[in-house]
Amino acid sequence: MTALKLENVQKSFGDIHVLKDIDLEVAEREFIVFVGPSGCGKSTLLRVIAGLEDASGGRVMIGGRDVTRTPPAKRGISMVFQSYALYPHLDVEGNMALGLRQAGEERKVIAERIATAASMLSLEPYLKRRPAELSGGQRQRVAIGRAIVRKPDLFLFDEPLSNLDAALRMATRVEIARLHRELGACMVYVTHDQTEAMTLADRIVVLRDGRIEQVGSPMELYNDPANQFVAGFLGSPS
Ligand code: ADP
Ligand code: MG
Repeated sequence: MTALKLENVQKSFGDIHVLKDIDLEVAEREFIVFVGPSGCGKSTLLRVIAGLEDASGGRVMIGGRDVTRTPPAKRGISMVFQSYALYPHLDVEGNMALGLRQAGEERKVIAERIATAASMLSLEPYLKRRPAELSGGQRQRVAIGRAIVRKPDLFLFDEPLSNLDAALRMATRVEIARLHRELGACMVYVTHDQTEAMTLADRIVVLRDGRIEQVGSPMELYNDPANQFVAGFLGSPS
């Protein structure tokens, strides 16, 4: 089955046409990475998939369901942001529980899911701490944990590593790859970092100025870039 399908998706802000004719199908367990320079529309595309922005045209399908007009909370997605977006007044446990409480999950289910996520992310010692008492890497793991406990059909990541230093960036990247294998979920990941794209992706989607330039596996794009832009972006020496 298809986890995500974008059909001729358009997005404009006033006169500015940001996303143009986006067509894409993503398979169930696929790790798909959108790359492209700053301002090319990566965040806007994720926000349209999440429902945080309405598409100006076209259709968004998640798990075979047309969600183009569905509110974010009902799309079966979890999103992880660059800025973590944790609640400062809640401890780690509270941050992970909030979305589940709002969805009306039972206390026992919430506790079990938090325990599982905390174990996967080695967050057990920090459950009673608030975000201000954590390092950047720990905060991002909490944000990932909060995404996991909701058991989404689709994970959306918007440059989740860009606020971390180089060593943590690599460690967290490896962790995300492991979670992808363990959860068997579909992940849609945005970055402007070619190393992240090349190491994480099953397929890479290269965006330029709101359009898809090329879609393919890291090796396909590296060995057979469609044009100079893709070649330059993915760094194959030519
Ligand atoms: P990226 O994430 O690839 O850096 P964005 O999706 O954030 O790019 O932005 C793509 C373009 O859309 C930019 O030109 C940006 O200024 C514009 N844009 C994004 N959000 C809005 C908005 N809410 N209103 C107007 N323009 C926007
Ligand atoms: Mg962005």
